[in-house]
Amino acid sequence: MDLPAPLQWTEHVLFSLLLAVVVRSYVLYGLTGVLKDLVKFLRLLPGVDTLIQFILAREVQTFMNKVSATPVDSEPVKKAVEIPEKGCSAEELLQDMAELKALETVTEDGKVFAYVYTMEDEHAKTLRKAFDMFNDPTGYDGNDKPSARENVVNQFAHTFLHENALSPMVFPALRKMETEVISMVATMLNGDSRCSGSLTTGGTESILMAVKCYRDRARELMPHITEPEIVAPITIHPAFEKAAEYFNLTVCHAPLKPDFTVDLAAFEKLIGKNTVMLAASAPQYPYGIVDPIEDVGRLATKHNLPFHVDGCFGGFMLPWVEKLGYPVPPFDFRVQGVTSVSADVHKYGFGLKGSSVVVYKSSEIRRHQIFAYSSWPGGLFGSPGFSGTRPGANIAASWAALRSLGEDGYMQKAEQLMKTTLAMEEGVDSIQGLSIVGKPAMTAFAIMSTENSGIDILALADAMEARDWHMERQQLPNTLHCTIMPHHIGREMVFINDLTESADEVRGKASLSSKGTAGMYGMVAKIPDRAVVDEFILQFFDKAYKL
Ligand SMILES: *Cc1c(COP(=O)(O)O)cnc(C)c1O
Repeated sequence: MDLPAPLQWTEHVLFSLLLAVVVRSYVLYGLTGVLKDLVKFLRLLPGVDTLIQFILAREVQTFMNKVSATPVDSEPVKKAVEIPEKGCSAEELLQDMAELKALETVTEDGKVFAYVYTMEDEHAKTLRKAFDMFNDPTGYDGNDKPSARENVVNQFAHTFLHENALSPMVFPALRKMETEVISMVATMLNGDSRCSGSLTTGGTESILMAVKCYRDRARELMPHITEPEIVAPITIHPAFEKAAEYFNLTVCHAPLKPDFTVDLAAFEKLIGKNTVMLAASAPQYPYGIVDPIEDVGRLATKHNLPFHVDGCFGGFMLPWVEKLGYPVPPFDFRVQGVTSVSADVHKYGFGLKGSSVVVYKSSEIRRHQIFAYSSWPGGLFGSPGFSGTRPGANIAASWAALRSLGEDGYMQKAEQLMKTTLAMEEGVDSIQGLSIVGKPAMTAFAIMSTENSGIDILALADAMEARDWHMERQQLPNTLHCTIMPHHIGREMVFINDLTESADEVRGKASLSSKGTAGMYGMVAKIPDRAVVDEFILQFFDKAYKL
């Protein structure tokens, strides 16, 4: 074939380049190097990558069917699972439990060589007793005796206590329950069936995973960024700072306006050429205020950036508060620009400690969360989250908690908790010199002292502690945080009376500011160098975790 002169010339250059590359990799890495380069080269040709992806998907399906104890569904998109409208009865759930347990690989017959180190012996009985003692489910429902629901959650934890979700194939029921919990959370947050996510050990891990995910996404899509940044309000949870420290990013914090909502103009100014993700909270922990998710969503769309909504606190509360008719600004997947949301099962999901969910808008995003390592002599290794071994008890308990409460159960709790919260807020506002910080959206608020009230809020905390309350002190500015939980229901008046008494006690007594813990917090607040305070925290923890 006669090519026109310029093409002949180009062909010549391309061929020489290819030859140079092949010779180089042969010299450096031998034949495998040449093969690697050949594959890289082939993948550049149109259609080849699609073909490889197609073959891979088929191989993964075959592989899963070979290694799984039960057939694996090959439907590309399965129907989403929702939290049932009415909570399931204990009997119904125990029947499910028996069926699910029957799916699992039996380890007691001694044919499994990994994952489970314990067995059903006397020792396990001791473990179960200890587990029950420290996972006392009473209190979640605000009663002294565990309800049928609480018993069911505990029975699920017991039944799957020894199981390990390290491999998704050995315990198919764990996999089913985990994917269903994720789906129930996704639908609760108005995500569609393309959503995918992970069940993690808590809000912190959910956030760490989202940050890692977007960092690695940026590495692929924005390789020029070497110093990745997150833009978020100053009230965002420290888990983001922790993630940034662990994974080498920087959090750029936007300040608040006098009404305690984030300064959106300042937020947008922080978005720059190094930004890899935006984050905001629904609601933020300190004041229970929902960040302007729609506005941040608009910025995310405008700047083509992913946006994580930290719903660790409110993910399992805001949906019901909204359905009850209270004003809740849009905060979930309905908002354009939101690419992921986290929600803690072990907070208002009323599951056992050690469970949270992070949901992404699609598997293409979640892909960057998963760790893969194919060169270990111990086998092909992969893991979705921080932990390797993952306890089955939590997965089972989470599944049972969501199904046994059901939407009606969650609504009922939300209704009671909102009534209690509003009564407490009203009580606080009625006390001279005290007020609620900003406009909280759900079952949490902060108390501050008004200007010239003569009340030092930290001295007020000390006065409350003298009355046996455990107060949560906040700083910059000093406030007191209250999260309202089922054990507060019916205790509104005790709280308001004690708060009124305490306020009367400290009002006008400036000397109290230098006494007790108020004095200590006051002193710490005055230290100009925060590094010194950080060192204080390090030494505190060093001492706290010594025998
Ligand atoms: C609790 C909380 C977290 C962290 O969750 P953990 O379960 O404590 O790790 C993150 N964000 C918000 C808003 C929270 O309230």
